[in-house]
Amino acid sequence: MTQILAAPGNPGIGDFAECVAVAADDIDGLVELAKLERPHLVIVGPEVPLVLGLADRLRAIDVPVFGPSARAAMLEGSKGFSKDFMAKYNIPTARYRRFTTEQTAEAKAYLATFDGPPYVLKADGLAAGKGVVIAESKTEAEAEIDAMLSGKFGAASASLVIEEFMHGEEASFFALCDGDTAVALAGAQDHKRVGDGDTGPNTGGMGAYSPAPILDQAMQDRVMAEIVMPTIKGMKMEGRPYSGVLFVGLMIDAAHGPRVVEYNVRFGDPECQVIMTRLKEDPLPQLLACATGGLAGCKRLERFSDPAVAVVMAGAGYPGEPKKGGVIGGLDEAGDVPGVVVFHAGTARRGEDIVANGGRVLNVTATATTLKEAVARAYEAVDLIDWPDGFCRRDIAWRALDRG
Ligand code: AMP
Repeated sequence: MTQILAAPGNPGIGDFAECVAVAADDIDGLVELAKLERPHLVIVGPEVPLVLGLADRLRAIDVPVFGPSARAAMLEGSKGFSKDFMAKYNIPTARYRRFTTEQTAEAKAYLATFDGPPYVLKADGLAAGKGVVIAESKTEAEAEIDAMLSGKFGAASASLVIEEFMHGEEASFFALCDGDTAVALAGAQDHKRVGDGDTGPNTGGMGAYSPAPILDQAMQDRVMAEIVMPTIKGMKMEGRPYSGVLFVGLMIDAAHGPRVVEYNVRFGDPECQVIMTRLKEDPLPQLLACATGGLAGCKRLERFSDPAVAVVMAGAGYPGEPKKGGVIGGLDEAGDVPGVVVFHAGTARRGEDIVANGGRVLNVTATATTLKEAVARAYEAVDLIDWPDGFCRRDIAWRALDRG
């Protein structure tokens, strides 16, 4: 029997795992927990502990880890590092330059090298998903340069990347990696804006679906050959072998093919939910091979051809301050809809009740033989959830459905 511990976990995973009250960024606490429990594998979910070196600390006490070292997690932890890395290894991405606090004037002058707005400005470090600004005018871009370089995001924006705006269709591609090699896992597309029709402020993601129609087999082969394999080889040459899941955010258009928008060093929400529900088998052996080597000799993970969709339910106010504490009912009924799994994110238990405890609270995920049917099932389940403070987008997967 596999035994699972989740730190800190939530009432959703609590049905399958023992939850331990150690925060995901409490590196010392997590190392102590690992010393006590001696797990056979640790899967690190979020980027912050990876960038803080949790994987290194665990490997130092001989605990296998699915997730990159701090030096490899720089692919997500520093936009400047990842841009320089891509330039060095000829990995297709947007033209860019890096600027530091003393270079405000140079940064503003660099804007003139683009055809015009929109301008893309990125804080170098982790800024909880808020570090990218797409400025619609030069005035806005200049104000943002001033704000970022004078510490809007603290140390994370002491340095900034300005890059070319890329047109095309966005998609996400996932590969499993063991430091030496990589194996394609799946593609997905998500919806970052809070409102229907992809309007309103950016969020951590309001929904996703997999597969992504634009990532057909030929395009996946290109992404592996032109982006993923050069990344794995390059990181090895840099003395930063990459293991774990590599999540490549892509912009795809006919003129340029696939180009990298960003790297993430983890599965991400809600992409993880749609990929996992499409797997035909337990991915544990492959995840363990990523941690310990030998992925090349591992059986390839089989996927259902069925598509999956996830609809995020968030608390009123998100992505600003969300309303918390409201009781969520109807979870069992929603979970009984065929093909549906309701994953918890920001939930907590209060007595007998499940209550909202974060911005993004539930991921209502559904599979079916067609994407249209999966979407219908997901919204049927959403409508069974009784949570007056919650909201969701009503148009998840519209782009793929429009393709017919
Ligand atoms: P990132 O955190 O780098 O993924 O950026 C957040 C979002 O900003 C992306 O999902 C894209 O929609 C958009 N974005 C970032 N960089 C660019 C770019 N160079 N061109 C167009 N859109 C971009």
